[in-house]
Amino acid sequence: MRKDVRILLVGEPKVGKTSLIMSLVSEEFPQVVPYRAEEITIPADVTPERVPTHIVDYSEAEQTDEQLSSEISKANVICIVYAVNNKKSIEKVTSHWIPLINDNTDKDSRVPVILVGNKSDLVEHSSMETILPVMNQYTEIETCVECSAKNLKNISELFYYAQKAVLHPTGPLYCPEEKQMKPACIKALTRIFKVSDLDNDGILNDNELNFFQRTCFNAPLVSQALEDVKNVVRKNVIDGVCDNGLTLKGFLFLHTLFIQRGRHETTWTVLRRFGYDDDLELHQDYLFPLTLKVPPDCTTELNHNAYLFLQSVFDKHDKDRDCALSPEELKDLFDVFPYMPWGPDVNNTVCTNDEGWITYQGYLSQWTLTTYLDVQRCLEYLGYLGYSIISEQESQAVAITVTRDKKIDLQKKQTQRSVFRCNVFGDSGSGKSGFLQAFLGRNLTRQNTVSEEHMSYYAISTAYVYGQEKYLLLHEVFPDFDVLSDTDLACDIVCLVYDASNPHSFEYCARVFKQYFMDTKMPCMMIAAKSDLQETKQLYALTPLEFCRKHKMPPPQAFTCNTADAPCKDIYTKLTTMAMHPHARLRCMCTCNRCTFCHLQNFINSELVQTVKAKLYTAILSRHVTQADLKSSTFWLRVSAGATVFAVLGFAMYRVLLKQRLPSRVRTSVAHLHIL
Ligand code: GDP
Ligand code: MG
Repeated sequence: MRKDVRILLVGEPKVGKTSLIMSLVSEEFPQVVPYRAEEITIPADVTPERVPTHIVDYSEAEQTDEQLSSEISKANVICIVYAVNNKKSIEKVTSHWIPLINDNTDKDSRVPVILVGNKSDLVEHSSMETILPVMNQYTEIETCVECSAKNLKNISELFYYAQKAVLHPTGPLYCPEEKQMKPACIKALTRIFKVSDLDNDGILNDNELNFFQRTCFNAPLVSQALEDVKNVVRKNVIDGVCDNGLTLKGFLFLHTLFIQRGRHETTWTVLRRFGYDDDLELHQDYLFPLTLKVPPDCTTELNHNAYLFLQSVFDKHDKDRDCALSPEELKDLFDVFPYMPWGPDVNNTVCTNDEGWITYQGYLSQWTLTTYLDVQRCLEYLGYLGYSIISEQESQAVAITVTRDKKIDLQKKQTQRSVFRCNVFGDSGSGKSGFLQAFLGRNLTRQNTVSEEHMSYYAISTAYVYGQEKYLLLHEVFPDFDVLSDTDLACDIVCLVYDASNPHSFEYCARVFKQYFMDTKMPCMMIAAKSDLQETKQLYALTPLEFCRKHKMPPPQAFTCNTADAPCKDIYTKLTTMAMHPHARLRCMCTCNRCTFCHLQNFINSELVQTVKAKLYTAILSRHVTQADLKSSTFWLRVSAGATVFAVLGFAMYRVLLKQRLPSRVRTSVAHLHIL
């Protein structure tokens, strides 16, 4: 909101400018007045709009043209005073004063002008007939008023109009010639409508209208008032009311009506509440709240409430409920943005469905990524979605959690963070992009359908670590050694990728490791990519395995994305686990598929066990819901039998496996489970 209002009075000598000011201040007509009144300031609490207001007089006798010009450019609103009984003073309005004002003000931001016909006590007739054509000709004329300094008629009104012209200008909202709202105003109100339409059905129902009223005017409409509003709309516009709710058409009509009736402060209140400034742009303070400080070694994440909000935004736009956003749905979701924030690269940064549409999980991942990499942008986006308004918060900043300094996490050996960054290094052609894309569940065939220009240097998705959902953010680092920046080196875990089929590939990884990470505590993982191809000996003093042993890294992890189905995700879980517990020396990170650890891991992760587990959960959950259903089916029996076997078997198996490394036993036992 504006800090103060500066009102300037101009006009021919003797029309009564000074008298008007003195009458306002002393509430009586002064018989004798000076040429020029001193500048007066009316304190905020006695003005109708609660804004300090300066009133400035002008006198040709006392001021130069330069002083006048300077006053004109300083003014927020100018009252051109004429005397209703003085024809010449009326003529001068158009022949002298309006051109002079235009010469001294910016074309793009014209000051509002008010025409003031003083000395109305001296004539019977009104000057309006002469004045109305002038008003129609000059759009900068906000309004006109006839008054009398002598009778104190319309004096307070005059200054109220002047104040209102500054605080709630009609100019940006309404085009008087076309008798309709301006495009920018329609655009802003349309966005407000969409944000307030919580269920996205194109209608503001009573609940949404009440919420809207409460946020804008701090008071709900009583139900009769709600009906009255709808009736007015019903009477005036076809399709203005639909299913007993207000359509966009009706909503826009209502605001046109407010403005035409001189109640544009109502429209302004709505616009300002939704973050708009006087130019109908979203205000910088609204989009970029300054309250957020992110110290070094801290990261930014969305908190639970922000995820809930984003979830509701997703739900309201996923009209076909397929848990993915089709191009139309995505476009609709970002309709409240001034530009499309997500390019085609986003589809290659997060999980998509078979059609390449961003899934629910992918959508949340992308928000997580933006929050992590560019929190200001995230705040801006939340602003467009109306987060602070819909969730009734001070500002978008409350959506953000700034995590604890990583050094403290390391000291305390635990972390509350839920996003971990893994920077992926490797020579060009080593398979970094394939490694990133595989995290999104895409095999090589699928990856080859993506055009080069739409590729992304990021991939983000979730990984489960000890039952907790975490985000792993993979970042492909450009292999040029000389341009590595601090952000390329700052992360929670490093992946060094080499092409196992290319003898020259490993050397790069060794070089990066030695130059940047050898002397740090950064957890590093070596990835032997393209493991589907014939492995060749690497041209390096040590074999990759020896290198890893020497530097106390886990052994190289064989990896391929050239699979029939979605590539295996175990490696990403491992990476996330290591990123979460950088201090822990994980007992065994191997994937040899021969040792006890691997057998047990494989068994626990086997599809069968997972299915039994899932069925068990469903059964336990549904038991609370429908006891009857369970009684009538044999499903429950079968699952509980399976669960018992699973529990007993799991324990027995562990012992068996410890004693004798006989994978065949696993297979027979698993076969038993199948029968159940
Ligand atoms: P300025 O030169 O525009 O500042 O005009 P002044 O305030 O000095 O007024 C010029 C003359 O008009 C003075 O004699 C005032 O008393 C007189 N006057 C100002 N306002 C009114 C009014 O509303 N009615 C009448 N009848 N006389 C007025
Ligand atoms: Mg004067």
